[in-house]
Amino acid sequence: MASRSITILGATGSIGLSTLDVVRRHPGRFSVYALTAGTRSEELAALCREFRPKVAVMADAQAAEKLTELLWELPDISVLSGEPGLCDVASAPEACTVMAAIVGAAGLAPTLAAVRAGKRVLLANKEALVMSGKLFMDAVSASGAELLPIDSEHNAIFQCLPPDKIRDPDAAGITRVLLTASGGPFREHTSEALRSVTPAQACAHPNWSMGQKISVDSATLMNKGLELIEACWLFNVTPDRIEVHVHPESIIHSMVEYADGSVLAQLGSPDMRTPIANGLAWPERIDAGVAPLDLFRIGRFHFERPDLERFPCLRLAAEAFEVGGTAPAVLNAANEVAVAEFLKGNLAFTDIPVVIQRTLAATPVVPADSFDIIFAKNSEARQRAQEQIALLTV
Ligand code: NAD
Ligand code: MG
Repeated sequence: MASRSITILGATGSIGLSTLDVVRRHPGRFSVYALTAGTRSEELAALCREFRPKVAVMADAQAAEKLTELLWELPDISVLSGEPGLCDVASAPEACTVMAAIVGAAGLAPTLAAVRAGKRVLLANKEALVMSGKLFMDAVSASGAELLPIDSEHNAIFQCLPPDKIRDPDAAGITRVLLTASGGPFREHTSEALRSVTPAQACAHPNWSMGQKISVDSATLMNKGLELIEACWLFNVTPDRIEVHVHPESIIHSMVEYADGSVLAQLGSPDMRTPIANGLAWPERIDAGVAPLDLFRIGRFHFERPDLERFPCLRLAAEAFEVGGTAPAVLNAANEVAVAEFLKGNLAFTDIPVVIQRTLAATPVVPADSFDIIFAKNSEARQRAQEQIALLTV
């Protein structure tokens, strides 16, 4: 069997490292064509020494220069930089699979490059799809790219759908999608207690070990809002057919309800290597190194409705999707800026939704007719979000 050659965008992150862990377990099956990272040259150099990619890319020229120095003993590895370098390795003919695991809007251009080149695209970077929605899905259809969801909920839904009707819910007889959510670390906090939570508390997720940005998104429930939008696009369902179920054990990763009353669920330990291995090997199944599920130990499952009063980000995301056009791109940009400022200690946790709401109000919505419009709105919304933060913090 010829090995499947992979580009990993965001190799030094939580998803990138989990992907490499699965790759490491199957040396004959996968080979690494390219690895990319933002600023951490030393970490990428160590991964290059182990996985020997043909190309390594850093987000900027300075970090790339440092990587070149660190890799002096491996001159066969080409080092590239910036968005052109990222798009290059995402679309290169040498790679058939691209793991899209850069965090945030920075991942849109390279993920899109992989889509346009018709790759198997393993989509972790949900922000790319949230920002550009229909344009992104149209690009998938036009190129024939194979888009496989890596987000655990969407990978679960994907596994519970008939493979030939992934984007045809009526033909599949689907009545509802039950999107599960852990509820995050502050599920039982009062509104008052939420005001003073710290970045360290927000990043200490009870069930999942993830990057900082998605950890904060899980704590505000914006992650579930982004995932609601992601599910609408991936599976061609309307939001009224998606119901969020807070399930604090994080064992059921999501469910699909059918017209005959059947509800199919995908279960597993909360470990991203399961959906990653599913995407890498699909339609085959391979060892992911994940501990077997011990239901006797877990004992009970619980479900509750999300509280949109304490966690308004979920409602803001649903509203932005209903408004359509560039609203989801603005929502995403404002959230990224607000979360970054919260992580730096410059913004209260409870002001994250305030900044998003005010940025949405201050940024006119236009039809999302082109990727250029999406990129422009993303920049505009970032600036508006910074203005709103400055007003809040004076
Ligand atoms: P992370 O912060 O751990 O890693 C992000 C990666 O992107 C790193 O390799 C970083 O170097 C790179 N990067 C950051 N900014 C960049 C830039 N401007 N240009 C180029 N590269 C840049 O994040 P993560 O938790 O691995 O999440 C990655 C994506 O996967 C996110 O979109 C997240 O929503 C999604 N996701 C993550 C998980 C999880 O369990 N971690 C689960 C579902 C979905
Ligand atoms: Mg998820």
